[in-house]
Amino acid sequence: MITKAKILIVEDERDIARLLRYNLEKDRYKVLVANDAESALKMVRKQHPDLIILDIMLPKMDGLEFLKTIRADNNVPVVLLTAKRSEMDRILGLKLGADDYIVKPFSVGELQARIAGHLRRASGIPAGGNGKKHLSLGAMDIDFDRHAITVKGRPAHLAPKEFAILKLLIEADGKVLSREQLLEMIWGLDKNMEIDTRTVDQHIARLRRKIRPEDERIATVPNFGYQVRLN
Ligand code: CA
Repeated sequence: MITKAKILIVEDERDIARLLRYNLEKDRYKVLVANDAESALKMVRKQHPDLIILDIMLPKMDGLEFLKTIRADNNVPVVLLTAKRSEMDRILGLKLGADDYIVKPFSVGELQARIAGHLRRASGIPAGGNGKKHLSLGAMDIDFDRHAITVKGRPAHLAPKEFAILKLLIEADGKVLSREQLLEMIWGLDKNMEIDTRTVDQHIARLRRKIRPEDERIATVPNFGYQVRLN
């Protein structure tokens, strides 16, 4: 990678923020820190971070509200920091479009590995569609280089994993991909995450919502998986 990735830490506990900043700067990332969601929103708009580490428990606007707000028009990978017992927060976070979560108290090494993985995937999804840079499917127009999709000329704002799913289905060229295959190909490195095939279904549901009226191109094959209709 040529440019240094920029990571935004949204965390009100200053000791944790400091620890993260220290370790990430050691990894040669550019690091921004926001102690509350309101200033984090401004940083997202002005600084365009490549990844966000987001604490859920924040003063005033909490992490989930912040996530919902940025996901309206931003696909940046988000890793949630959650407290040990807040299972519901985690599930809600993934539903709202977080890419991953890590439970406090966490090992910095594990977090660093996850971050590297997400950045690799966010940037490394190769210019795709079987080498094509552009693909039009009905009213949907896909720019594989920019990871951008428009439907009837309007941006569809897919999250990175939603885009990755669509891309894999297109590359499969109409062949059916099972939920397990999609899980393995897209979440493959996150084996220790408590995710299962329902996560794939949730992402497909969000993807379909965002590409209406072309959502019918993504067909469910009962008891097996999904395929894309290319004509
Ligand atoms: Ca906190």
